[in-house]
Amino acid sequence: MAGPIPQRLLPDTATIAADGHLHIGGVDTVELAELYGTPLFVYDEQHLRNRCRAAVDAFPGGAYYATKAFLCGAMARLAHREGMRLDVASGGELALALRSGVPAADLLFHGNNKSTAELREALDAGVGRIVIDSFDELDRLDRLVHGEGRPKPRVLIRVTPGVKAHTHEYVSTGQEDSKFGFGLRSGAADAAIERLRGTGSPATLIGLHMHIGSQVFVAQNFARAMEAIAEFVKRADLPEMNIGGGLGVAYVEREESEPISAWGERVHASCRALGLSATISAEPGRVIAAQAAVTLYRAGTIKDIAGVRTYVAVDGGMIDNPRPAMYGSEYEAFLPRAASAERPRRVRVVGKHCESGDILLHDAALPEDLCVDDIIATPVTGAYGFAMGSNYNRLGRPAVVFVADGHHRLVVRRETIEDLLATDLELD
Ligand SMILES: *Cc1c(COP(=O)(O)O)cnc(C)c1O
Repeated sequence: MAGPIPQRLLPDTATIAADGHLHIGGVDTVELAELYGTPLFVYDEQHLRNRCRAAVDAFPGGAYYATKAFLCGAMARLAHREGMRLDVASGGELALALRSGVPAADLLFHGNNKSTAELREALDAGVGRIVIDSFDELDRLDRLVHGEGRPKPRVLIRVTPGVKAHTHEYVSTGQEDSKFGFGLRSGAADAAIERLRGTGSPATLIGLHMHIGSQVFVAQNFARAMEAIAEFVKRADLPEMNIGGGLGVAYVEREESEPISAWGERVHASCRALGLSATISAEPGRVIAAQAAVTLYRAGTIKDIAGVRTYVAVDGGMIDNPRPAMYGSEYEAFLPRAASAERPRRVRVVGKHCESGDILLHDAALPEDLCVDDIIATPVTGAYGFAMGSNYNRLGRPAVVFVADGHHRLVVRRETIEDLLATDLELD
């Protein structure tokens, strides 16, 4: 039988009040669900700040928040105020970061297929660093710099160290067989450096970049990647080395998170042991945002199939959390009205979309008295949930609320039916 939801899967400021309700940032989450409706993402600001500070401490040479994990104006400002720079990977992320007041010099622009228009926007804004991913991208930069007379950007080149991280295939990015970056073994990385150092180079090369994958745990993987790339880094002799992101977090009871500080220590120790002198920077996303939030849903239909299972349908699903459908990811659930309750009842928590695969939790443990209209919370949903959301079935994206010190504020409003119809031009 499953016990109460473990505290370590909840945001840093989570507490359980005398009436059993879960409070985050000093605010009753059951009240938040009533006030803002559901589904609702509730982020603990203090938790986000704590993780940003930990990242800055662990990587004094540059801690970039990977905005793709979770981005809105409030998040961009929070991360930047806590000393992080931001990593963006599209014109949209770039525009939102700039509109939030983050200086372009503190942005780093990624992507395996940045368009000419996106590169032009980045150059015009004065983005601090661009990570070059391909020879075609160098051609595009050539046209912008030499053809259109734009200033040369400072760039890193992304290399694939040829290491396979022990994680899901779709989130493993460091292997040679990848759409990302320049391979070491094939000689592509050397050729890219040569071109960037040659006469007529469209950019100023200042460093190397790698990103081995996501939901990776420190010990086994980052050290191996550093070893794999060390000789190349020494030969390239560049001032910066960005090791990417990817530090994993615990989603379910049997998993254990590693602190950001341990990741930093591990990477710095490897660099020292390998004799690397470049300034080390990193780009954490998940580890900053994932455990900072819970999603609140309302239970609608409960369907009991005798001898088979019970389905509990909530008012969201694969559009606000596509990870279970995409990667088979697992989560826990609990009732925020009874956050310290035992969870003996096994049910399948599903969404409201027209797909049998629209499953949030295959085998959730919940309290015995779970009933229709209950608020159900899924913790560790702050990264790659809202960010990967869609409008499938013409459903609006949920609202996002930040809580801190007994206050709550809406930072992203819920999408309305008008929003959902706004781009359709067939008027009558
Ligand atoms: C996704 C990504 C990150 C962040 O990964 P997390 O697993 O969220 O830490 C960092 N850098 C690059 C290049 C990425 O693609």
